[in-house]
This record gives sequence, C-alpha cells and structure tokens, in this order.
Amino acid sequence: MEENQVIDTVDTGIVIFDREYSATYWNGWMAAHTQISENEILGRSLFDFFPKLKNPRFLRSCKAVFAFGNLAFFPQDPYGYLFSMKPVEWFRSEFKFMQQSCTIGPIRGEGKEIERLFVSIRDMTEEAAYKKKLVALTLNDELTGSYNRRFLMNFLEDELYRCRRYNRPFSVIMMDIDHFKKINDTCGHPFGDEVLKLFASTVVRNMRKSNRFARYGGEEFVCVLPETDSEGGVGFAEKIRKLIEELPLSYKQSQVKITSSFGVITYTDDINDIATLMKKVDDALYKAKESGRNRVVVAN
Ligand code: GH3
Ligand code: MG
Ligand code: MG
Repeated sequence: MEENQVIDTVDTGIVIFDREYSATYWNGWMAAHTQISENEILGRSLFDFFPKLKNPRFLRSCKAVFAFGNLAFFPQDPYGYLFSMKPVEWFRSEFKFMQQSCTIGPIRGEGKEIERLFVSIRDMTEEAAYKKKLVALTLNDELTGSYNRRFLMNFLEDELYRCRRYNRPFSVIMMDIDHFKKINDTCGHPFGDEVLKLFASTVVRNMRKSNRFARYGGEEFVCVLPETDSEGGVGFAEKIRKLIEELPLSYKQSQVKITSSFGVITYTDDINDIATLMKKVDDALYKAKESGRNRVVVAN
C-alpha cells in the first residue's frame, strides 16, 4: 500500500490491532518513539509490550468502538497517556512519560464489519508542560512555591460547602511569623525571604497530603485541614510552633531564633461563610500575638 509511505512519516503514532489486540500495523513514528520495531510487534499482543494498556477504561472503549463503530478519545486531558514511552529529552524532568492525546476508531473490512481498530497518538507533552506552568502561575506563590491566596479562597469555599452538606469537620490554622520586620531589618530582606521559604517547607513537609497550605499575605500563612476536629487542629499547630522555634538558623555565624503565632478555628454549622470563618481565625491569631506571641489560640 503506497499510502504507508505517508502514514509511516507523519508526526503521529498509528497503531492498528485486531479483536485479540494483536498488532497488525505499527507506523514509523511508533517504532521511533518506543524503540519497538514493526517486525517485533506485528502479530503479537499489544499487552505483551504495554501491560498498563490492559486497563478497564481502554478495554471498555475498545469494546464500544468494536460494537458501535464510534470514535473514542483518550485520555481527554493532556495529562495522561495510553502507550508508555519516554518524552523527548527536554521534558523528562517534568514528565516521566510522554503525554498523549489518542483517538481510537474502527476499521471495516470488505463486508463492512469492524474487524480491527486503529489508535492515533499525538505527543501532547509540550502543551501539558505549558498548562502545568500556567496553573502554577495562577495558583502558586512564587517565593515559597506554596499555594496562593486565590487558590486558598477557592479551596475554602469548596470545603465549607462539603462540610455543611455532609456534616463533616474541618479546621483552619492561620500562622504569622513573630517580629518578622525585625528579622528583615537586622538580617536583610534576602535572609527574610529564606526564612519564609523555610517556614513554608517546614509546614508542608510535616502536614498530611490532604491538607492545603497557602501563603495568605507577606509572612502570614494558612493551613486548611479537612476532616480534622479542634483537637487535631490545635495539635498540628503546636507541632509546627515547636518545629519553627527549633529551626537551626544562623546569620553571619550567630544563631537566629524565630517564633510564630497561630490562630485555629474548627468549622461549626453556625459559620455561614468564608468571611466569617477568616475573621474568627484572624481574631484568634491577634489574641495569640497580644498575649505574648509564640503560641496557639483557639477561636471561640
Ligand atoms: P508580629 O509579631 O506582630 O507579626 O510582627 P511583625 O514584624 O511580623 O509584623 P508585621 O506584619 O507588621 O510585619 C510583616 C513584615 O513582613 C513587613 C514586611 O516588610 C515583611 N514582608 C512581607 N512580605 C515579605 C517578603 O516577601 N519578603 C520579606 N523578606 N519580607 C516580607
Ligand atoms: Mg508577623
Ligand atoms: Mg503579619
């Protein structure tokens, strides 16, 4: 088939397989990106080479295409892949596998019956990398890499809704570094920046994956703890308070000690909106400052 000359050189992967998932066509692009030659794979099951392909979603989609002759699209988001293969060199630090956009479609035989399916595979790694960067730019704080206020407010809205609906607890901790102005003044702004980064990484390293940590303002941070009652919230705040106090920090060979203050609030059903919640936790933090700093105060 002369058309193969074209199909073999296009910038898209083309795979054709039969009802047993045995490869009957494997274009040049697939060979180049997988290091599996046409000779090696033709007549063999795709699953021998790509075990992860044997997943319910892929099998279900193929069954549907065989049955109805429709097209199926995979994975519908640029973050994902069907055939595991390495991305081109400069994206390897970002993605372990090439991100793909795939289409599965029917191939009919002479009797108009669907005998085989094709998959076309496009490399979406570059688009996925840009999307990832864009999301990071809008949701993350540049200095500390933690979430920003915009992300936090959205997350809190969702969390409040969820907890009202299902009657679940969640806690919010507002944190503020004590006398931070003095740190900037005596050690300089760049040192202050390093303290902020260290503060953020200390919290993130010690919290649960389901928690969300965000930079709320200059040296003010907020941690949201889903499914956590007051005791859990206070316990975590205390743990962070101690860890911060014990950070081994030095400036020009002399030791620098930093402390921080915490307000904690746990959602109760009389809290109707985020503004009320944040006001209450801010008041608790203010009390912690007023009563001597380096402490945890629970909102009433
Ligand atoms: P308190 O114990 O009452 O919290 O005292 P404080 O000095 O920490 O209070 P305040 O909130 O007035 O000071 C915050 C300081 O944080 C002022 C500002 O210059 C500094 N700051 C805000 N953002 C940054 C930043 O990105 N980097 C650095 N180095 N400093 C920052
Ligand atoms: Mg402060
Ligand atoms: Mg402050």
